[in-house]
Amino acid sequence: MKTLVILGSTGSIGTQALDVIRHVPGVELTGLSGFSNMALLAEQANEFTPPYLAVPSDEKRTELMGMLHYSPTVFVGDDGLIELVTVPMAILLVAIVGTAALSPMVEAIPRVPHIAIANKEVLVAAGGIIMEMVKEHGTTLIPVDSEHSALFQCLEAVQFNPNAIKHVTLTASGGPFFGRDASTFSSITPKDALKHPNWDMGAKISIDSATMMNKGLEVIEAHHLFGLDFDDIHVVVHPKSIVHALLETVDGAILAHMGRPDMRYPIQYALTYPDRVPTPFKQAPLTQLSDLAFFEPNRTAFPLLDLAIECGKKGGVYPVVFNAANEVAVQQFLMENCSFLDIHAIIVRFLNQFSNRHVHTIDDIIALDQEVKMTPMLS
Ligand code: NAD
Ligand code: MG
Repeated sequence: MKTLVILGSTGSIGTQALDVIRHVPGVELTGLSGFSNMALLAEQANEFTPPYLAVPSDEKRTELMGMLHYSPTVFVGDDGLIELVTVPMAILLVAIVGTAALSPMVEAIPRVPHIAIANKEVLVAAGGIIMEMVKEHGTTLIPVDSEHSALFQCLEAVQFNPNAIKHVTLTASGGPFFGRDASTFSSITPKDALKHPNWDMGAKISIDSATMMNKGLEVIEAHHLFGLDFDDIHVVVHPKSIVHALLETVDGAILAHMGRPDMRYPIQYALTYPDRVPTPFKQAPLTQLSDLAFFEPNRTAFPLLDLAIECGKKGGVYPVVFNAANEVAVQQFLMENCSFLDIHAIIVRFLNQFSNRHVHTIDDIIALDQEVKMTPMLS
Protein backbone atom coordinates (compact mmCIF):
# COMPACT_ATOMS: atom_id res chain seq x y z
CA MET A 1 0.00 0.00 0.00
CA LYS A 2 1.21 3.53 -0.86
CA THR A 3 0.25 6.05 1.79
CA LEU A 4 -1.06 9.44 0.64
CA VAL A 5 -1.66 12.78 2.37
CA ILE A 6 -3.71 15.51 0.66
CA LEU A 7 -3.25 19.14 1.70
CA GLY A 8 -6.40 21.03 0.70
CA SER A 9 -8.69 18.02 0.19
CA THR A 10 -11.87 20.13 0.26
CA GLY A 11 -10.95 22.23 -2.81
CA SER A 12 -11.45 21.63 -6.51
CA ILE A 13 -8.21 19.64 -6.93
CA GLY A 14 -8.60 17.91 -3.56
CA THR A 15 -12.11 16.58 -4.25
CA GLN A 16 -11.10 15.43 -7.75
CA ALA A 17 -8.05 13.67 -6.25
CA LEU A 18 -10.40 11.71 -3.97
CA ASP A 19 -12.41 10.77 -7.08
CA VAL A 20 -9.18 9.43 -8.54
CA ILE A 21 -8.07 7.40 -5.55
CA ARG A 22 -11.49 5.73 -5.31
CA HIS A 23 -10.39 3.67 -8.34
CA VAL A 24 -6.58 3.61 -8.11
CA PRO A 25 -5.52 0.39 -6.40
CA GLY A 26 -2.88 0.30 -3.70
CA VAL A 27 -3.30 3.86 -2.36
CA GLU A 28 -4.22 4.33 1.29
CA LEU A 29 -5.20 7.77 2.58
CA THR A 30 -3.16 8.76 5.65
CA GLY A 31 -4.11 12.41 6.06
CA LEU A 32 -6.31 15.28 4.85
CA SER A 33 -6.38 19.01 5.52
CA GLY A 34 -9.27 21.44 5.17
CA PHE A 35 -9.60 25.14 5.89
CA SER A 36 -13.19 26.35 5.91
CA ASN A 37 -15.62 23.62 4.85
CA MET A 38 -15.64 21.28 7.87
CA ALA A 39 -18.80 19.47 6.75
CA LEU A 40 -17.04 18.35 3.56
CA LEU A 41 -13.83 17.49 5.42
CA ALA A 42 -15.86 15.35 7.86
CA GLU A 43 -17.63 13.61 4.99
CA GLN A 44 -14.29 12.82 3.30
CA ALA A 45 -12.72 11.70 6.58
CA ASN A 46 -15.65 9.43 7.44
CA GLU A 47 -15.42 7.82 4.00
CA PHE A 48 -11.65 7.19 3.97
CA THR A 49 -10.90 7.18 7.76
CA PRO A 50 -7.37 8.61 7.49
CA PRO A 51 -5.61 8.60 10.90
CA TYR A 52 -4.50 12.29 10.63
CA LEU A 53 -6.43 15.48 9.83
CA ALA A 54 -5.45 19.17 9.94
CA VAL A 55 -7.68 22.23 10.42
CA PRO A 56 -6.89 25.95 10.90
CA SER A 57 -8.23 26.60 14.42
CA ASP A 58 -9.54 25.09 17.68
CA GLU A 59 -13.05 26.22 16.74
CA LYS A 60 -12.84 24.33 13.44
CA ARG A 61 -11.48 21.31 15.30
CA THR A 62 -14.49 21.28 17.65
CA GLU A 63 -16.88 21.71 14.70
CA LEU A 64 -15.18 18.85 12.83
CA MET A 65 -14.98 16.46 15.80
CA GLY A 66 -18.77 16.71 16.26
CA MET A 67 -19.25 15.26 12.76
CA LEU A 68 -16.64 12.46 12.78
CA HIS A 69 -17.60 8.80 13.18
CA TYR A 70 -14.09 7.74 14.26
CA SER A 71 -11.21 9.20 16.30
CA PRO A 72 -8.30 10.48 14.20
CA THR A 73 -5.52 12.80 15.42
CA VAL A 74 -6.52 16.36 14.45
CA PHE A 75 -3.66 18.85 14.11
CA VAL A 76 -4.45 22.57 14.43
CA GLY A 77 -3.24 25.83 12.86
CA ASP A 78 -0.21 26.58 10.68
CA ASP A 79 1.83 24.22 12.86
CA GLY A 80 -0.83 21.58 12.28
CA LEU A 81 -0.09 21.58 8.55
CA ILE A 82 3.59 21.13 9.33
CA GLU A 83 2.76 18.25 11.69
CA LEU A 84 0.64 16.67 8.97
CA VAL A 85 3.51 16.66 6.44
CA THR A 86 5.84 15.05 8.99
CA VAL A 87 3.73 11.88 9.41
CA PRO A 88 5.17 8.94 7.44
CA MET A 89 3.83 8.83 3.87
CA ALA A 90 4.81 7.74 0.38
CA ILE A 91 3.04 10.52 -1.54
CA LEU A 92 1.98 14.09 -0.73
CA LEU A 93 -0.51 16.02 -2.87
CA VAL A 94 -0.20 19.78 -2.38
CA ALA A 95 -3.62 21.17 -3.34
CA ILE A 96 -3.82 24.22 -1.05
CA VAL A 97 -4.22 27.52 -2.92
CA GLY A 98 -1.71 30.37 -2.48
CA THR A 99 1.56 30.72 -0.58
CA ALA A 100 -0.08 29.17 2.52
CA ALA A 101 1.38 25.98 1.00
CA LEU A 102 4.96 27.26 1.13
CA SER A 103 5.99 26.26 4.69
CA PRO A 104 4.41 22.77 4.50
CA MET A 105 6.03 22.25 1.08
CA VAL A 106 9.46 23.18 2.41
CA GLU A 107 9.04 20.86 5.40
CA ALA A 108 7.85 18.05 3.16
CA ILE A 109 10.65 18.03 0.57
CA PRO A 110 13.34 16.42 2.79
CA ARG A 111 10.85 13.88 4.20
CA VAL A 112 8.46 12.78 1.46
CA PRO A 113 9.81 10.77 -1.48
CA HIS A 114 7.08 11.72 -3.99
CA ILE A 115 5.29 15.08 -4.11
CA ALA A 116 2.46 15.82 -6.56
CA ILE A 117 2.17 19.60 -6.77
CA ALA A 118 -1.00 21.35 -7.93
CA ASN A 119 -0.20 24.63 -6.17
CA LYS A 120 1.58 27.06 -8.50
CA GLU A 121 1.98 30.07 -6.20
CA VAL A 122 4.77 28.42 -4.18
CA LEU A 123 6.75 27.67 -7.35
CA VAL A 124 6.27 31.26 -8.54
CA ALA A 125 7.38 32.77 -5.23
CA ALA A 126 10.14 30.32 -4.32
CA GLY A 127 10.73 28.04 -7.32
CA GLY A 128 14.52 28.49 -7.36
CA ILE A 129 14.97 27.42 -3.72
CA ILE A 130 12.34 24.67 -3.96
CA MET A 131 13.95 23.09 -7.02
CA GLU A 132 17.40 23.19 -5.34
CA MET A 133 15.91 21.39 -2.32
CA VAL A 134 14.17 18.83 -4.56
CA LYS A 135 17.50 18.11 -6.26
CA GLU A 136 19.42 17.90 -2.99
CA HIS A 137 16.94 15.47 -1.41
CA GLY A 138 16.20 13.43 -4.54
CA THR A 139 12.46 14.12 -4.22
CA THR A 140 10.22 13.07 -7.12
CA LEU A 141 8.23 16.24 -7.89
CA ILE A 142 5.41 15.73 -10.40
CA PRO A 143 3.21 18.61 -11.58
CA VAL A 144 -0.58 18.35 -11.44
CA ASP A 145 -1.28 21.57 -13.34
CA SER A 146 -2.66 20.26 -16.65
CA GLU A 147 -0.25 22.14 -18.94
CA HIS A 148 2.77 21.12 -16.86
CA SER A 149 1.64 17.52 -16.61
CA ALA A 150 1.25 17.58 -20.40
CA LEU A 151 4.65 19.17 -20.87
CA PHE A 152 6.26 16.70 -18.46
CA GLN A 153 4.88 13.87 -20.61
CA CYS A 154 6.15 15.53 -23.83
CA LEU A 155 9.55 16.00 -22.19
CA GLU A 156 9.65 12.32 -21.26
CA ALA A 157 9.47 11.58 -25.00
CA VAL A 158 12.81 13.40 -25.48
CA GLN A 159 14.26 12.06 -22.19
CA PHE A 160 14.31 15.63 -20.82
CA ASN A 161 17.29 16.31 -23.12
CA PRO A 162 17.64 20.11 -23.41
CA ASN A 163 19.55 19.74 -26.68
CA ALA A 164 16.50 18.11 -28.28
CA ILE A 165 14.15 20.98 -27.45
CA LYS A 166 13.62 24.01 -29.70
CA HIS A 167 10.89 25.50 -27.56
CA VAL A 168 7.74 24.55 -25.67
CA THR A 169 4.24 26.00 -25.78
CA LEU A 170 1.67 26.26 -23.01
CA THR A 171 -1.90 26.64 -24.16
CA ALA A 172 -4.35 29.05 -22.51
CA SER A 173 -8.11 28.82 -22.85
CA GLY A 174 -8.24 32.63 -22.97
CA GLY A 175 -10.75 32.54 -20.10
CA PRO A 176 -14.30 33.88 -20.16
CA PHE A 177 -13.25 37.19 -21.81
CA PHE A 178 -11.36 35.85 -24.81
CA GLY A 179 -12.27 38.03 -27.79
CA ARG A 180 -14.31 40.50 -25.69
CA ASP A 181 -13.82 44.22 -26.38
CA ALA A 182 -11.39 45.45 -23.70
CA SER A 183 -13.23 48.78 -23.45
CA THR A 184 -16.04 46.87 -21.67
CA PHE A 185 -13.74 45.26 -19.03
CA SER A 186 -14.52 47.91 -16.39
CA SER A 187 -18.05 46.48 -15.96
CA ILE A 188 -16.90 42.87 -15.32
CA THR A 189 -18.28 41.44 -12.06
CA PRO A 190 -16.82 38.56 -10.00
CA LYS A 191 -19.77 36.43 -11.18
CA ASP A 192 -18.83 37.05 -14.85
CA ALA A 193 -15.16 36.33 -14.16
CA LEU A 194 -15.86 33.10 -12.25
CA LYS A 195 -17.66 31.56 -15.26
CA HIS A 196 -14.81 29.63 -16.88
CA PRO A 197 -15.75 28.15 -20.26
CA ASN A 198 -13.95 24.78 -19.89
CA TRP A 199 -12.75 24.11 -16.35
CA ASP A 200 -14.56 24.05 -13.00
CA MET A 201 -11.92 25.36 -10.60
CA GLY A 202 -11.46 27.21 -7.31
CA ALA A 203 -12.30 30.93 -7.19
CA LYS A 204 -8.73 32.24 -7.15
CA ILE A 205 -7.49 30.35 -10.21
CA SER A 206 -10.73 31.16 -12.05
CA ILE A 207 -10.08 34.89 -11.63
CA ASP A 208 -6.42 34.33 -12.60
CA SER A 209 -7.67 32.65 -15.79
CA ALA A 210 -9.96 35.58 -16.54
CA THR A 211 -7.04 38.07 -16.27
CA MET A 212 -4.62 35.63 -17.98
CA MET A 213 -2.47 35.98 -14.86
CA ASN A 214 -2.80 32.21 -14.60
CA LYS A 215 -0.80 31.69 -17.79
CA GLY A 216 1.84 34.16 -16.61
CA LEU A 217 2.18 32.22 -13.34
CA GLU A 218 2.36 29.01 -15.37
CA VAL A 219 5.25 30.30 -17.50
CA ILE A 220 7.22 30.93 -14.28
CA GLU A 221 6.12 27.52 -12.96
CA ALA A 222 7.38 25.81 -16.16
CA HIS A 223 10.67 27.74 -16.00
CA HIS A 224 11.40 26.37 -12.52
CA LEU A 225 10.00 22.86 -12.93
CA PHE A 226 11.82 22.12 -16.18
CA GLY A 227 14.78 24.52 -16.15
CA LEU A 228 13.59 26.14 -19.41
CA ASP A 229 14.60 29.67 -20.45
CA PHE A 230 11.69 32.11 -20.37
CA ASP A 231 12.16 32.87 -24.07
CA ASP A 232 11.73 29.17 -24.88
CA ILE A 233 8.30 29.00 -23.19
CA HIS A 234 5.65 30.26 -25.60
CA VAL A 235 1.95 30.85 -24.93
CA VAL A 236 -0.94 30.43 -27.36
CA VAL A 237 -4.65 30.82 -26.80
CA HIS A 238 -6.51 27.61 -27.56
CA PRO A 239 -10.14 28.12 -26.50
CA LYS A 240 -11.14 24.44 -26.58
CA SER A 241 -8.51 23.36 -23.99
CA ILE A 242 -7.86 20.05 -25.72
CA VAL A 243 -4.17 20.42 -26.49
CA HIS A 244 -2.60 21.19 -23.11
CA ALA A 245 1.04 21.71 -24.10
CA LEU A 246 3.37 21.24 -27.07
CA LEU A 247 7.08 20.66 -27.49
CA GLU A 248 8.90 21.44 -30.73
CA THR A 249 12.07 19.44 -31.18
CA VAL A 250 15.22 20.77 -32.88
CA ASP A 251 14.61 18.39 -35.77
CA GLY A 252 11.17 19.81 -36.46
CA ALA A 253 8.68 17.50 -34.74
CA ILE A 254 5.85 19.04 -32.74
CA LEU A 255 4.83 16.77 -29.87
CA ALA A 256 1.43 17.62 -28.38
CA HIS A 257 -0.44 16.31 -25.36
CA MET A 258 -4.21 16.13 -25.91
CA GLY A 259 -7.27 15.17 -23.96
CA ARG A 260 -10.65 16.25 -22.71
CA PRO A 261 -10.26 19.05 -20.12
CA ASP A 262 -10.59 17.01 -16.93
CA MET A 263 -8.11 17.50 -14.08
CA ARG A 264 -8.55 13.91 -12.95
CA TYR A 265 -6.15 12.75 -15.70
CA PRO A 266 -3.17 14.88 -14.61
CA ILE A 267 -3.99 14.24 -10.92
CA GLN A 268 -3.93 10.48 -11.51
CA TYR A 269 -0.72 10.65 -13.52
CA ALA A 270 0.99 12.68 -10.76
CA LEU A 271 -0.11 10.18 -8.10
CA THR A 272 0.72 6.96 -9.96
CA TYR A 273 3.89 8.11 -11.80
CA PRO A 274 5.89 6.31 -13.15
CA ASP A 275 3.09 3.75 -13.53
CA ARG A 276 0.03 4.15 -15.73
CA VAL A 277 -3.19 2.78 -14.24
CA PRO A 278 -6.55 2.41 -16.04
CA THR A 279 -9.08 5.19 -15.45
CA PRO A 280 -12.88 4.92 -15.52
CA PHE A 281 -13.06 8.54 -16.79
CA LYS A 282 -13.52 8.04 -20.51
CA GLN A 283 -11.59 10.04 -23.07
CA ALA A 284 -13.62 11.63 -25.87
CA PRO A 285 -13.50 10.28 -29.45
CA LEU A 286 -11.16 12.19 -31.76
CA THR A 287 -14.12 13.51 -33.74
CA GLN A 288 -15.11 15.43 -30.59
CA LEU A 289 -11.55 16.60 -29.98
CA SER A 290 -11.30 18.16 -33.45
CA ASP A 291 -11.49 21.72 -34.85
CA LEU A 292 -8.40 22.76 -32.94
CA ALA A 293 -7.62 26.46 -33.24
CA PHE A 294 -4.72 28.50 -31.83
CA PHE A 295 -4.42 32.29 -31.49
CA GLU A 296 -1.87 34.83 -30.30
CA PRO A 297 -2.79 36.13 -26.81
CA ASN A 298 -4.07 39.71 -26.67
CA ARG A 299 -1.21 41.10 -24.58
CA THR A 300 -2.68 44.62 -24.43
CA ALA A 301 -6.09 43.56 -23.11
CA PHE A 302 -4.46 41.11 -20.65
CA PRO A 303 -1.26 42.89 -19.48
CA LEU A 304 -0.70 40.56 -16.49
CA LEU A 305 0.62 37.86 -18.83
CA ASP A 306 3.65 39.90 -19.85
CA LEU A 307 4.06 41.49 -16.42
CA ALA A 308 4.31 38.01 -14.90
CA ILE A 309 6.96 36.96 -17.41
CA GLU A 310 8.89 40.20 -16.81
CA CYS A 311 8.80 39.60 -13.02
CA GLY A 312 9.84 35.98 -13.54
CA LYS A 313 12.81 37.07 -15.65
CA LYS A 314 13.90 39.68 -13.08
CA GLY A 315 13.59 37.12 -10.27
CA GLY A 316 14.43 37.97 -6.64
CA VAL A 317 11.69 39.97 -4.96
CA TYR A 318 9.69 40.53 -8.15
CA PRO A 319 7.82 37.22 -8.46
CA VAL A 320 7.26 37.16 -4.67
CA VAL A 321 5.67 40.63 -4.59
CA PHE A 322 3.84 40.10 -7.87
CA ASN A 323 2.29 36.86 -6.66
CA ALA A 324 1.37 38.16 -3.17
CA ALA A 325 -0.09 41.36 -4.64
CA ASN A 326 -2.19 39.28 -7.02
CA GLU A 327 -3.50 37.13 -4.14
CA VAL A 328 -4.53 40.36 -2.36
CA ALA A 329 -6.05 41.95 -5.46
CA VAL A 330 -8.02 38.83 -6.45
CA GLN A 331 -9.45 38.55 -2.95
CA GLN A 332 -10.47 42.23 -3.01
CA PHE A 333 -12.07 41.79 -6.44
CA LEU A 334 -14.01 38.73 -5.22
CA MET A 335 -15.24 40.80 -2.25
CA GLU A 336 -16.26 43.53 -4.73
CA ASN A 337 -13.88 46.02 -3.11
CA CYS A 338 -12.17 46.76 -6.41
CA SER A 339 -12.88 46.45 -10.13
CA PHE A 340 -11.57 43.86 -12.58
CA LEU A 341 -9.20 46.44 -14.10
CA ASP A 342 -7.94 47.43 -10.61
CA ILE A 343 -6.30 43.99 -10.24
CA HIS A 344 -3.51 45.03 -12.61
CA ALA A 345 -3.29 48.56 -11.15
CA ILE A 346 -2.98 47.22 -7.58
CA ILE A 347 -0.22 44.79 -8.53
CA VAL A 348 1.78 47.56 -10.26
CA ARG A 349 1.49 49.77 -7.15
CA PHE A 350 2.69 46.97 -4.86
CA LEU A 351 5.60 46.24 -7.21
CA ASN A 352 6.64 49.91 -7.10
CA GLN A 353 6.50 49.94 -3.31
CA PHE A 354 8.28 46.67 -2.53
CA SER A 355 10.74 46.15 -5.37
CA ASN A 356 13.82 47.40 -3.51
CA ARG A 357 13.86 44.53 -0.97
CA HIS A 358 16.09 41.46 -1.02
CA VAL A 359 15.20 37.80 -0.65
CA HIS A 360 17.73 35.03 -0.23
CA THR A 361 16.04 32.41 1.92
CA ILE A 362 12.62 30.81 2.31
CA ASP A 363 12.18 32.80 5.53
CA ASP A 364 12.84 36.06 3.60
CA ILE A 365 10.26 35.03 1.01
CA ILE A 366 7.65 34.14 3.63
CA ALA A 367 8.29 37.44 5.46
CA LEU A 368 8.00 39.51 2.27
CA ASP A 369 4.86 37.63 1.16
CA GLN A 370 3.29 38.34 4.56
CA GLU A 371 4.38 41.98 4.52
CA VAL A 372 2.72 42.55 1.14
CA LYS A 373 -0.45 40.81 2.31
CA MET A 374 -0.58 42.81 5.58
CA THR A 375 -0.12 46.16 3.82
CA PRO A 376 -3.42 47.99 3.44
CA MET A 377 -4.50 47.91 -0.20
CA LEU A 378 -2.88 50.92 -1.82
CA SER A 379 -5.09 53.35 -3.63
P1 NAD B 1 -9.75 25.73 -4.10
O1 NAD B 1 -9.95 27.12 -3.62
O2 NAD B 1 -10.87 25.00 -4.70
O3 NAD B 1 -9.21 24.83 -2.88
C1 NAD B 1 -8.17 25.26 -2.06
C2 NAD B 1 -7.93 24.30 -0.90
O4 NAD B 1 -6.95 24.92 -0.05
C3 NAD B 1 -9.17 24.05 -0.05
O5 NAD B 1 -9.11 22.73 0.47
C4 NAD B 1 -9.02 25.06 1.09
O6 NAD B 1 -9.68 24.63 2.25
C5 NAD B 1 -7.51 25.09 1.28
N1 NAD B 1 -7.01 26.39 1.77
C6 NAD B 1 -7.36 27.61 1.32
N2 NAD B 1 -6.67 28.55 1.99
C7 NAD B 1 -5.88 27.90 2.90
C8 NAD B 1 -4.95 28.32 3.88
N3 NAD B 1 -4.70 29.63 4.10
N4 NAD B 1 -4.32 27.39 4.61
C9 NAD B 1 -4.57 26.08 4.42
N5 NAD B 1 -5.46 25.61 3.49
C10 NAD B 1 -6.10 26.51 2.74
O7 NAD B 1 -8.48 25.77 -5.08
P2 NAD B 1 -8.15 24.80 -6.28
O8 NAD B 1 -8.81 25.30 -7.51
O9 NAD B 1 -8.33 23.37 -5.88
O10 NAD B 1 -6.60 25.11 -6.49
C11 NAD B 1 -5.59 24.62 -5.60
C12 NAD B 1 -4.23 24.92 -6.22
O11 NAD B 1 -4.10 24.14 -7.42
C13 NAD B 1 -4.04 26.39 -6.64
O12 NAD B 1 -2.72 26.78 -6.42
C14 NAD B 1 -4.35 26.37 -8.14
O13 NAD B 1 -3.66 27.38 -8.85
C15 NAD B 1 -3.84 24.99 -8.53
N6 NAD B 1 -4.53 24.43 -9.72
C16 NAD B 1 -5.87 24.21 -9.70
C17 NAD B 1 -6.51 23.71 -10.82
C18 NAD B 1 -7.99 23.41 -10.81
O14 NAD B 1 -8.50 22.87 -11.80
N7 NAD B 1 -8.72 23.72 -9.78
C19 NAD B 1 -5.76 23.44 -11.98
C20 NAD B 1 -4.40 23.67 -11.96
C21 NAD B 1 -3.78 24.16 -10.83
MG1 MG C 1 -3.09 25.12 -15.77
